[in-house]
Amino acid sequence: MNDTPAKPAAKKTTAKKAATKTAATKTTAPKKATAAKKTATAKRAPAAKKAATSRTAATKGAAPAQKAAAPARKPESRVAMVRRARRINRELAELYPYAHPELDFTNPFELLVATVLSAQTTDLRVNQTTPRLFAACPTPEDMAAIPPEQLEELIRPTGFFRAKAKSLIGLSAALRDRFDGEVPGRLEDLVTLPGVGRKTANVVLGNAFGVPGITVDTHFGRLARRFGWTTAQDAEKVEADVAEIFPKSDWTMLSHRVVFHGRRVCHSRKPACGACPIAPLCPSYGEGETDPEKAQKLLKYELGGQPGQRLKPPADYPGRPAAPLAAS
Ligand code: SF4
Repeated sequence: MNDTPAKPAAKKTTAKKAATKTAATKTTAPKKATAAKKTATAKRAPAAKKAATSRTAATKGAAPAQKAAAPARKPESRVAMVRRARRINRELAELYPYAHPELDFTNPFELLVATVLSAQTTDLRVNQTTPRLFAACPTPEDMAAIPPEQLEELIRPTGFFRAKAKSLIGLSAALRDRFDGEVPGRLEDLVTLPGVGRKTANVVLGNAFGVPGITVDTHFGRLARRFGWTTAQDAEKVEADVAEIFPKSDWTMLSHRVVFHGRRVCHSRKPACGACPIAPLCPSYGEGETDPEKAQKLLKYELGGQPGQRLKPPADYPGRPAAPLAAS
């Protein structure tokens, strides 16, 4: 197995740390229950009712939010929602102090290419594909000149490889011809590149240029709706709604934290509500598994004791790096 040879002892310690952190956050829950009572919205009532009727959960002493079976309350005010939203952001910052983009890259061009490749596939699969790609085409000039069939072969594992190869050759040629071979640092320029939409542009701006941006991918949109920050389905509308809640300086890290939580805890089909440290602040508590033991088993990546998505994660990442493609 080609998993990056981390020291076993260190692995255990970090995994333990992450688990302890989750547990520690859970122990602060009673304090949060007060906040939850204040912030619970009308939507909360069915969740609380569900929790109250769940014998298993009750007997196992599930999250305090379950016990806070409150009668239906009047809709949450805008001010209360904003306060709760910012508190969620602070709690997520404590839970994921190491939140980061989950694509491996060493410069803006690599990030741009990796983000284009990430459409319709996982960041893990992109990270397993890009080492060979960047070795063959380290610059826009190289990528613009590579025969399409050769590029298609290099990026085949990411799926939709013909369309993606066309975008990559097109955007590389545009960078070479219109931007002196450099990735531009302005949204209005980035979105003129083939295959680059607003989401990709925001990822590049936020993580390669330090320009604040909200990245609305499938995880961010889902959680923003579950948190009651927006009701919109359209990504641009979600971005606009969330931008009104948080100061600009929070946008990039907020995006990483929310996406981290979506990938690890608040999954699309089975959110792990019973193991979710921000359950007392979430009006959608109860949409997923509320039994703490069952919910614990749904946690992913470093919280579930599994490898992460990056082959080269940042130094403060407490989990294990992902394995290269050949070893997976
Ligand atoms: S896991 Fe459940 S409680 Fe936690 S954020 Fe998602 S829906 Fe809310």
